[in-house]
Amino acid sequence: MKILVTNDDGLYSPGLACLAKVASSFGKVIVMAPDIEQSSMGHAITANRPITYKTSPIIFEDIETYRVNGTPADCVAMGIHLFKDFDIVLSGINMGANLGNSAWHSGTLSAARQAVLFKQRGIALSVSLGENEIDFDNLSTYVHKALSNVINLNKPELLNINFPQLPNGEITWTKQSVQHYDGKVVASKDPMGRNHYWFTVIPIDGEEEGSDRWAVKRGKISITPMLLDLTDKQFLGSEMSIH
Ligand code: MN
Repeated sequence: MKILVTNDDGLYSPGLACLAKVASSFGKVIVMAPDIEQSSMGHAITANRPITYKTSPIIFEDIETYRVNGTPADCVAMGIHLFKDFDIVLSGINMGANLGNSAWHSGTLSAARQAVLFKQRGIALSVSLGENEIDFDNLSTYVHKALSNVINLNKPELLNINFPQLPNGEITWTKQSVQHYDGKVVASKDPMGRNHYWFTVIPIDGEEEGSDRWAVKRGKISITPMLLDLTDKQFLGSEMSIH
């Protein structure tokens, strides 16, 4: 099995190191990751300047590794173009959950989605942050277990996996939580007295049973099968006429 590993936290993230190591037990891994953090970049692609990549052998001694001056989606496009014939693309492990509406802006999930656009399977992996540092040695056991369940499936093409910081060992299929969010722009001043702003998004409602947020809150590992087609098929089928 040939596996492309990328992320949106950048090449130096411990989450990427953990994923690359676990992925190595399933096959040959090539790592191609952004040279700087690209979190919340969504599915951005670099279209107005050329992209370059450099070998980065220092990060993983025995894994072919490259850093790219582009976005997570760029890394996947570049990786598939340069090294071809991957069986799967893995993105993560993101330092922070990608639940609910995060699907819209997550660079981690967008990299996995870019894989599907390039006719490869894509899996995004993220871990919730808490008060303590993440114990990746402990987490890697669960990452291996979760991947063992899905890495050889032909379908679904796109999966979003979320790990609680301390998993209870249960793994469950979930749906994406679609709730209303309180999007706030909080104004403040920098040390020079200039205005600056923080953008915050907080879910208003509780978690729907069976959703990704619901599962992770209960210590379960959440696997959400996702589609690229966002069409409202129910509406299309309702014979609403247009004049
Ligand atoms: Mn990130």
